[in-house]
Amino acid sequence: MIIVMDKSATQQQIDNVIEKIKDKGLDASVSRGIEKTVIGAIGDERILDPELLESLPGVQQALHIVKPYKIVAREWHSDDTIINIKGNLIGGENIQVISGPCSVETPSQMAASASAVKAAGVRMMRGGAFKPRTSPYSFQGIGFEGLDMFKEAAGKENLPIVTELLDVRHLDTFLEKGVDVIQIGTRNMQNFELLKEVGKIHTPVILKRGLSATISEWLMAAEYIASGGNHNIIFCERGIRTFETAYRNVMDVTAVPVLKRETHLPVIIDPSHAGGKAWMVPSLARAAIAAGADGLLVEMHPTPCEAWCDADQAINPEELKKLMLELSQIASILNRKI
Ligand code: PEP
Ligand code: MN
Repeated sequence: MIIVMDKSATQQQIDNVIEKIKDKGLDASVSRGIEKTVIGAIGDERILDPELLESLPGVQQALHIVKPYKIVAREWHSDDTIINIKGNLIGGENIQVISGPCSVETPSQMAASASAVKAAGVRMMRGGAFKPRTSPYSFQGIGFEGLDMFKEAAGKENLPIVTELLDVRHLDTFLEKGVDVIQIGTRNMQNFELLKEVGKIHTPVILKRGLSATISEWLMAAEYIASGGNHNIIFCERGIRTFETAYRNVMDVTAVPVLKRETHLPVIIDPSHAGGKAWMVPSLARAAIAAGADGLLVEMHPTPCEAWCDADQAINPEELKKLMLELSQIASILNRKI
């Protein structure tokens, strides 16, 4: 960390900062310029709090020089991490598409969804049994019963299941019922207690980006999971909130190269919650893969106009099939497998 002192800082103030650094077990190196004095803290600077140092008299600014995240950073792990989900690889040269309805509704809807997912050549299935809705009066998901329904339908097609965990009290049941991938939704990206709990297990986690989260906040959220011991983390960009109202959210495609530079973990895109309309999904999905995403999370419903949740943005089975063919062409140009 670098601590820049005020021009008028006294020797006593400089000594005070040095003492604070040494109290934390780090060394300090002082560099006196004509204009300013700069103090460098040498050692594991992550334990130093810049806000605390900036509150000391005579301090102008305290800046971390290493990244605040470690396990998730490419700086510490240069190769791409490949996550294995029941034999389906994601990361490196491997692209995975995950598709299925927004929410689990009925056994027949889940059976039709699973067979459509399989027929399109998709190898993992999504579906929410617990739904984070803006209004308390909207459909909240069918709950645990939905997980059984989901597991049964997906199991018949040999598809691992991806579902959202909303409440830390549900985690044990999710594991008992055999959830293969836990989705942490946008609204919970900074629910630190939830992140710590999924950090204690080894089930892969899809961490969606918060509605207004910066890349750095998102990486720090992943670090919460990783620091508990679970390194099976997949980032999912799902659109961010901006001034634009013509679509549900803005798919931040820039996040793909930026994140892939910052982290070794896989990065996927959810074009459905980004665009919010089914007709936008294919072009957003193609752009995501072209930009280097390691996969997609796409909402598909056997009969979109009957969906209990997010009906407008669900593509139908035929559209999914067509999209998969287009994506495989893009992937092959990029020397990747889908
Ligand atoms: C979902 O995937 O159905 C969902 C609720 O997503 P998000 O958290 O991105 O809104
Ligand atoms: Mn949805």
